[in-house]
Amino acid sequence: MKEFRIEDFFSPFSLLYWRQFLWKSQYYPAEKLQQLQWQYFSRILDHCFANVPFYRNFFKEQGLTRQDFQSFADLHKIPVFSKELVLEHAKELKADNFKKYRPITVYTSGTTGTPLEIYWDTFINSVELVHQWRHFSWFGYRLGDGFMDIRNFKMHLPNKYRWNWQCRGLEFSSQYIDGINIHEYADLLRKYKIRFWRGHSSALNHLCHVLNDAGITDVKPRFIVSVAESLVENQRQFMESWSGGPVCDNYGLIEHTALIIQCPHGGYHIASEYGHVELLKDDGSPAKPGEEGRIISTGLHNRAFPLIRYDTKDYAIATDRVCACGRTLPLIERLIGRVDDRLINKHGKYIGGLQKATTFAKGIRLSQIVQSVPGIIDFYVVPVKNFTDDMRQLLLDLLTEELADTMQINIHVVDKVPYDGSGKFKFVVSLLNN
Ligand SMILES: [Zn+2]
Repeated sequence: MKEFRIEDFFSPFSLLYWRQFLWKSQYYPAEKLQQLQWQYFSRILDHCFANVPFYRNFFKEQGLTRQDFQSFADLHKIPVFSKELVLEHAKELKADNFKKYRPITVYTSGTTGTPLEIYWDTFINSVELVHQWRHFSWFGYRLGDGFMDIRNFKMHLPNKYRWNWQCRGLEFSSQYIDGINIHEYADLLRKYKIRFWRGHSSALNHLCHVLNDAGITDVKPRFIVSVAESLVENQRQFMESWSGGPVCDNYGLIEHTALIIQCPHGGYHIASEYGHVELLKDDGSPAKPGEEGRIISTGLHNRAFPLIRYDTKDYAIATDRVCACGRTLPLIERLIGRVDDRLINKHGKYIGGLQKATTFAKGIRLSQIVQSVPGIIDFYVVPVKNFTDDMRQLLLDLLTEELADTMQINIHVVDKVPYDGSGKFKFVVSLLNN
């Protein structure tokens, strides 16, 4: 987790501007939102033409001028950009006037295990912060309210927790929380009057289960925000029924190129003021409503290190629905997961992450799918208590309904899922070379 330092955000004018603006723009007519997005992108594009060596060289080689870009319909003239290419061209992606933006270096894991260095200009910290604040505000959060932030990996936390007074965040790691010390953690939630929870869904799920097992009911949150990991539906079901509040998904990237956030009506809204999102099918054409597409993202604010048409390697289903909440920020139907989360059936066809299929499964505390052979999956279940034959049959029926006879399904009941090591928890672990 990137450490919060108030000096990185201390731009009251900028914070105030975005606070005023984003609360209005979420209700703008669709056309006005598109114009706004184009305005932001035009600024980035001008900057790329003038100051960013990688894009400047590319445009020159291709014979493209600024006039060749009049609307988002011209965006396809710039190819989709993979993480591997970012790694290769990191130097040329830095703007000539890089230092002017007082950039902060952050790291994200690369596909080959090589960490990818990314830079944020200081200005986008306010943009990021206020966008997150707006999302929380949809559920009643006000700036200054305390919140809990939990991750599933070991962090260097003094006393196994940290109170960050600057942002009023109570930081936990699920790795330290068990049935023995849970009362100490409950005391911390009481002491700091925490009613909003945020974190990795597997870590949030763990905390809810441990509190539930201990019979502690007075520290339940008003809402839970799941970040950084794919939210598994049966975990969402359990957390919502235990807490009595909503669990909402918050999809973002360290690269700060896209933000997709769930509203109280369940709609997955694209924060169009933050990033431009395309959903592209594997053949490169745009996904139509109901179709699955890869999320290709363009950040609208980072001038130190601009990324245009960045391949997130995540998948989502497109929709043209309008949300009942009244916000005009465009929707996607739902998130599916990472490209490497996809499974391969007996016919060699890719299948999405199955998060949805387990929605109505019972008795599961944690689960993980591992695939090492196409057409066969091993479904590992850590049960709440006893995993009865009925529960096993229900899970098998749900999976069979989704997969028909295209996949052999082996269910294993275990104390611990096979891959819960460091980093983000993965519901699907594919050992195939995709
Ligand atoms: Zn909505």
